[in-house]
Amino acid sequence: MKPNKPFNSFGPKGLLIAIIVVVGLFAVLIQLKDVAKDIGTISYKEFLDKVRQNQIKKVHKSGQFLSGLTHDNKRFETVVAERPGDFDLLEQHGVDFSVSTPSMSTGAWHLFLILGILMLLAIVSGAYFMRQMKNGMKGGGGSGGLFNIGKSRAKMFLPSMIKERFSSVAGAHEAKEDLQDVVDFLKDAPKYQRLGARITRGILLVGEPGTGKTLLARAVAGEANCPFFSVSGADFIEVFVGVGASRVRDLFAEARKKAPCIVFIDEIDAIGRQRSSSVGGGNEEREQTLNQLLTEMDGFETSKDPVIVLAATNRADILDKALIRPGRFDRQIVVPVPDLVSREEILKVHLQKIKYVADLDIRGLARGTPGFTGADLANLVNEAAIIASKKNQEEVTMYDFEEARDKLMLGKESKTMILTDYDKKVTAFHEAGHALVRLLMPKDTDPLHKVTIIPRGRALGVTHFLPEREKYNRTKEELLASIAAALGGRAAEELAFNEISTGASSDFKYATDIARDMVCDYGMSDALGKRVYIDSYERKGGFSEKTYELIDAEITKILNEQYDVAMKLLSENRDKLDKLSYELLEKETLYAAEIYELLGIEPRVDLRLVK
Ligand code: ADP
Ligand code: ZN
Repeated sequence: MKPNKPFNSFGPKGLLIAIIVVVGLFAVLIQLKDVAKDIGTISYKEFLDKVRQNQIKKVHKSGQFLSGLTHDNKRFETVVAERPGDFDLLEQHGVDFSVSTPSMSTGAWHLFLILGILMLLAIVSGAYFMRQMKNGMKGGGGSGGLFNIGKSRAKMFLPSMIKERFSSVAGAHEAKEDLQDVVDFLKDAPKYQRLGARITRGILLVGEPGTGKTLLARAVAGEANCPFFSVSGADFIEVFVGVGASRVRDLFAEARKKAPCIVFIDEIDAIGRQRSSSVGGGNEEREQTLNQLLTEMDGFETSKDPVIVLAATNRADILDKALIRPGRFDRQIVVPVPDLVSREEILKVHLQKIKYVADLDIRGLARGTPGFTGADLANLVNEAAIIASKKNQEEVTMYDFEEARDKLMLGKESKTMILTDYDKKVTAFHEAGHALVRLLMPKDTDPLHKVTIIPRGRALGVTHFLPEREKYNRTKEELLASIAAALGGRAAEELAFNEISTGASSDFKYATDIARDMVCDYGMSDALGKRVYIDSYERKGGFSEKTYELIDAEITKILNEQYDVAMKLLSENRDKLDKLSYELLEKETLYAAEIYELLGIEPRVDLRLVK
């Protein structure tokens, strides 16, 4: 029997030529398509910026893909990072939008055919590019240092190209402090590994767009003097299943070669969103990509040169739980919207780039821009410079800044971030209430760190700086004090405005949880005695209706008593409450030491720390 002829009887050289021809055709095809439709792919963030600048006429969203037209009739495409609020933004900027589900229409068969052909081409060309890339990478670094890593679309920056340092990032002191660990580790990994210390390899930077997450990530690379790979989550996702996963693989293969280094993934929610149960087109690709990322991160433990992954998101809560497990992105660093002092610092950084009048009221500018992010402030400075240039001025004046601010404010109005003056005042009293009750309670074991009325995350209002539930033993007195402090926010609102807002529900939950544990878990209630009820209580069974009612009554009693305690403390110290609230309104963030000084209270010593 004659041996079967191999499939490609024309030998490896012929295959290469065939591939090149096919790829060439493919490239031409793609180009033709792009030229014909004039389509540009932009990142989702760019898209949102364009909306805010009123450049978008209409958009159509189909599944995760969004295409549209700008006012100057340019087509563009982008991949959507899910944020339901963005539809409001579209509406506010008069964008004509429509949505459809990516479904199979009747004439879908020829679409299948085209897809099939394209898929084949993609596989062939993918294989080709992969080879090309492997060859290209070997001597690639020389050509200017910045190059595309095959199809991963990540950009690599060599240390010499990274100008950013921590000093380039104004404000964000806590984030910088946290990231200093990463810098130290990158600089001298063996020092930590010597004793077997496990250092976090994945860090989430959580904050609104424009708060400086990218800037911080680059600054870490700059400080550590190591290479920086930058990519957006949306860049991984393509129509073809498997491309994303392979891009992730490529990226990390390259990163490992350059380790120690940093990989920065912007908009990680595009791949890291919670897996939904629904079976849909775009999902499988996203899941494969996510799985590949997880696999890569699990492999980090064993390598000795660290690759640190910094990922940015504005919503940590929608991320897949698998992503935030230990060994993956197990650390979160919040990059807040800047407070007054930080806004002033950021303005100073950006003012260095323009010529402005000597007596510019920078503090006043900072005061007039609550809710502005670092990017907004950079934009403000630039906009003011443009306004002044148009008027042929020599220097930018305060008047130009005000004009620029008003213009930008209009675009920002839709954002929930900006508090009305009244909201801000209520929030100030609320937060002052928490802090003051905590300070004035006879027992204070939760050291006060800081109080702020700057909104964090997406929520209107503020996340309260109540202590985490602690693990060590706490006395009954301490638990009661925590409840009073939690209720102090609402008590202060009632005292100052004689009306109550909805902004305290998480406080109530916190307080109720403690009270319930006291009664059901710690045996701290006289009426119910020293026994554990918690399991039965949560199941609402296992004991009589009467016992259940008794427990409920006990919990309510504890809460009411502590609310009264908070109310009494605050009304007896009304002067301090007012003083603290108005100072908060003015400064937006106050640290413990500032509060002690303002109110003339002796700082408390944490008794557990005194031997
Ligand atoms: P994010 O990644 O959080 O969306 P970026 O890091 O891209 O935000 O910030 C965009 C721009 O805004 C930066 O390039 C910088 O000019 C400016 N900016 C943001 N935060 C700061 C800051 N803390 N200090 C100085 N400039 C900032
Ligand atoms: Zn509160």
